[in-house]
Order: sequence, then C-alpha cells, then structure tokens
Amino acid sequence: MATDEACLFCRIVRGEVAATVVYEDDDVVAFRDIDPQAPYHVVFVPRDHVPTLNDVRDPILVGRLATAAAAVAAREGYDGRGYRTVINTNADGGQTVFHIHLHLLAGRRFHWPPG
Ligand code: 5GP
Ligand code: ZN
Repeated sequence: MATDEACLFCRIVRGEVAATVVYEDDDVVAFRDIDPQAPYHVVFVPRDHVPTLNDVRDPILVGRLATAAAAVAAREGYDGRGYRTVINTNADGGQTVFHIHLHLLAGRRFHWPPG
C-alpha cells in the first residue's frame, strides 16, 4: 500500500496530524473537513496514497469511498433528505489536496449547477 511522507491526508491516515475521524475500515478513513461547507462535511480517503481520480487503477477503490459515504450518511440520518458527494480533480475541479478524497456534504440544500 502506497504512502507519501509529506502528503497531508497520508499523515492524517497515519495519525501524525490530528483529525476528527468519523469512520474507518481496512481501506478507508473519513474525518471532518477543517473548513466545512455544510453543517455536515466529511472527507473519505483511501489509506492508499492515490493522488487524483486520474490515477485510480482499481475501480473498487472509488466504490469503497462511495459506499462508506452512503453508510455514514445513513448513520447520521441524511439518507432520506439527501446529501451531496463530490470528487474534485486537479485545477479546474478545485482540488487542493492531492490524495484522492470524496466529500460528503449534508444538512442543507445544495444548488445545481454547482458553480
Ligand atoms: P479539495 O479542495 O482538494 O477537494 O478538498 C480538500 C479539503 O481538505 C478541503 O475541503 C479542506 O478544507 C480540507 N482540509 C485541508 N487541510 C485540512 C486539514 O488539515 N484537516 C482537515 N480535516 N481537513 C483539511
Ligand atoms: Zn496521501
């Protein structure tokens, strides 16, 4: 499993940087976003260091992020109301941390198009 010494999210996965972890399993860790854009905002990351969606070789990795997010959304009672899941990729996508992550945003109504 790849890890990157300097990567912020690898450091959170390794427990070197503090974060409020809300979910973890053998492959995925989820923690509260430090700058929440919704009442409930969590990011789901693989333990494996994969920089962007462009670099995914195992499609199951993305499935694990998505199903973990759905499980946490249901656990927190947002499944019926709904929520938004987002993977930002590179500059135009607004990606700022280059360890793939899926955002789970919930607790308010989101707009479309997203802007
Ligand atoms: P991106 O913009 O790459 O899609 O998302 C990166 C997210 O990581 C942002 O929403 C940002 O607020 C969050 N973030 C950046 N640094 C930290 C940190 O040190 N801890 C936590 N919990 N979240 C962070
Ligand atoms: Zn990483």
